[in-house]
Amino acid sequence: MVYAMAMILLVEDDRIITAALSRALTDAGHVVRPVGRAGDALKVVTDERPDLVILDLGLPDIDGLDALRMMRSVSDVPVIVATARRAEADIISLLSAGADDYVTKPFSGGHILARIAAVLRRSRSTAAAAPSAITVGELVISPRQRRAELRGQPLQLTRREFDVLAYLAERVGQVISRRELMNEVWNQARIGEEQTIDVHISWLRRKLGETAAQPRFLHTVRGVGVMMVDPR
Ligand code: CA
Repeated sequence: MVYAMAMILLVEDDRIITAALSRALTDAGHVVRPVGRAGDALKVVTDERPDLVILDLGLPDIDGLDALRMMRSVSDVPVIVATARRAEADIISLLSAGADDYVTKPFSGGHILARIAAVLRRSRSTAAAAPSAITVGELVISPRQRRAELRGQPLQLTRREFDVLAYLAERVGQVISRRELMNEVWNQARIGEEQTIDVHISWLRRKLGETAAQPRFLHTVRGVGVMMVDPR
């Protein structure tokens, strides 16, 4: 469908896989930008702003997980990781490092197209349905601009961190379970969910200048979930 067309950065060093995937994606109406090295991928992400990245983890120059972290430090672009690794610990690392989804090799063109459509739908709908501003004490969140400020100073948040913060801020005073966050912010119920959520909450805390021991905005309710409160 035309509305779902996207510019897709395909990071894959295997020429046969690249050719097959490029064809499947192009046939579905996407524009494909193939590169074989992580270094080139990082350049394309910043210079050409693709709508989505498919990232092979086994690349010749940089380990895929490091490449993903580097990508996340410069961009919020949705990333689907293509991996031969199936271990739960590897999948947890991938999601914690900021992957939006993953496919396990080998996968079909139809499979990756369905994942792409789902990831694009998520990233586009969160942008469209957002309220204009949410204020919690000295914290101001502008979902449409995807901006958050604390005492007038912009916070440098990843896309996930922003989504978690906005979700909690819209529900001040309510305890939100990890499962709800996983379902509503990640749109998936996956293995390793608790660690993934906890990692994001602890990063958010650091950026908000607080700790689990001395919380201000983000209060953990043991065994239940997390709650945002107005610290004043
Ligand atoms: Ca490879």
